[in-house]
Amino acid sequence: MQDFDVIVVGAGNAAFCAALAAREQGASVLMVEAAPEEESGGNSRFTAGSMRVVYNGVDDIKTLVPDLTEQEIATSDFGTYTQEQFFDDMARVTQDRADPDLVELLVTRSFDTLNWMRTKGVRFIPIYGRQAFKIDGKFKFWGGLTLDAVGGGPGLVDMLTNAAAKQGIEIWYQTRALDLLFDGARIEGVRVRQDGQVRELRGKSVVLASGGFEANPEWRTRYLGPGWDLAKVRGTRFNTGDGIRMALEIGASPCGNWSGCHAVGWERNAPEFGDLAVGDQFQKHSYPFAIMVNATGKRFVDEGADFRNYTYAKYGRVILEQPGQFAWQIFDQKVKHLQRDEYKIRQITKVTANTIEELAGKLDGVDAPQLVKTIAEYNAAVRAEIPFNPNVKDGRRTEGLAINKSNWANTIDQPPYEGYAVTCGITFTFGGLRINTNGEVLNTDYQPIAGLYAAGELVGGLFYFNYPGGTGLTSGSVFGRIAGTSAGRARVN
Ligand SMILES: Cc1cc2nc3c(=O)[nH]c(=O)nc-3n(C[C@H](O)[C@H](O)[C@H](O)COP(=O)(O)OP(=O)(O)OC[C@H]3O[C@@H](n4cnc5c(N)ncnc54)[C@H](O)[C@@H]3O)c2cc1C
Repeated sequence: MQDFDVIVVGAGNAAFCAALAAREQGASVLMVEAAPEEESGGNSRFTAGSMRVVYNGVDDIKTLVPDLTEQEIATSDFGTYTQEQFFDDMARVTQDRADPDLVELLVTRSFDTLNWMRTKGVRFIPIYGRQAFKIDGKFKFWGGLTLDAVGGGPGLVDMLTNAAAKQGIEIWYQTRALDLLFDGARIEGVRVRQDGQVRELRGKSVVLASGGFEANPEWRTRYLGPGWDLAKVRGTRFNTGDGIRMALEIGASPCGNWSGCHAVGWERNAPEFGDLAVGDQFQKHSYPFAIMVNATGKRFVDEGADFRNYTYAKYGRVILEQPGQFAWQIFDQKVKHLQRDEYKIRQITKVTANTIEELAGKLDGVDAPQLVKTIAEYNAAVRAEIPFNPNVKDGRRTEGLAINKSNWANTIDQPPYEGYAVTCGITFTFGGLRINTNGEVLNTDYQPIAGLYAAGELVGGLFYFNYPGGTGLTSGSVFGRIAGTSAGRARVN
């Protein structure tokens, strides 16, 4: 039997932020992680490390990226991402469902929390590749998402692991938390499985940061609905909902959008779970400049409804709902240069053709004559006199189609044509545990469960239906830090 002040379950971004914050309060901290070390870091390791953060101009960016050069500043238009913009984005994409108290913390603490991470050794860089198009010699950032952790998700997890080591925080890998030790009034620790043995770890507080239930096909089907067992998992195979289950078993209150999740267009033949060698590159996020068709040869969604950051997380579900759970994205050479890097990987289902008829014949599983008709009708409906501009919602749309495209509509007429096959890749689930503004988990009477805290994906109430890109990591950091601080302070009581 071993005693710790704070036991953190998981070793992803939220868990590290909780552990570091608890340590700052003087607590002894243990992290238990189900995965072996080489697969640890959870979904956080699979990310690009993109983090949505409030900034009021270039000076705030310089604070977060002190090594930005004069040349970089001169050739970048970062614009702003104010608190109001972040509040508006959260309200709009969640259809005004997000818990206002949680959103308030997320938005108002984002800048301060990234700065705090910097003091722990996490470094950031502007996302020149994915979030800015170069116009007249200047990179213009769009969509409210401007910074990546250096080295992406793997870099972020490595920097956080180093920070934890420096603070004397222990991490036990291949140690899966099974249950909470609870005397009916307060938490006393966790029961874990390690080396095939079950053992009890005593802790004054426990922070659950073990992710959602996206890697659990049975729970996906149970809560997200029929068909979700067929989705590919974009990230870790270890997020099976354990933290949520353990808390519910001792009376925690479920909260949020249990039938909702973040899911995207993802390589049709990707493996069942994420592959760290490929990372997030199975995603295919340049669809705003393409069209998407299903097995019937028809379009089924407005590909240009908004910037990618505000539609990608809900379009995975739309693809899952198509016959055979797949779609093809179609590009011509006019927009090829706008494709993100992920279109260049080897592990891709791609066809190329010199005519639309040839392309139609090559798209596996698609009604070819209908596809030819769809493209002809689409081309005729493009308002080509409106200038095309990928940096803004340009209003260059189609008119008169059953499903119009609202922005970035270009005729498809410059061969060679390319088709990319996608299916649904689930990122993380939205439903989870109810917490208060101290990061304490509430019971079904809405009272804090003494000694129990939560952060990251398994917190419910923040995201409904959709999600603004880059918010998952920021939420994990903000709420991880809050939960860890509370847990660290509680040990003295
Ligand atoms: C491919 C991909 C790309 C993404 N890109 C971005 C991006 O660029 N920006 C962004 O903000 N978000 C992104 N996301 C979402 C982001 O990954 C998550 O929102 C965020 O990482 C969640 O952090 P977390 O700490 O809550 O969970 P995780 O990082 O998943 O950590 C949970 C940890 O708990 C461990 N665990 C699970 N069960 C147990 C148990 N019983 N006992 C012990 N340990 C357990 C897991 O092994 C894991 O290490 C992406 C996700 C994926 C999959």
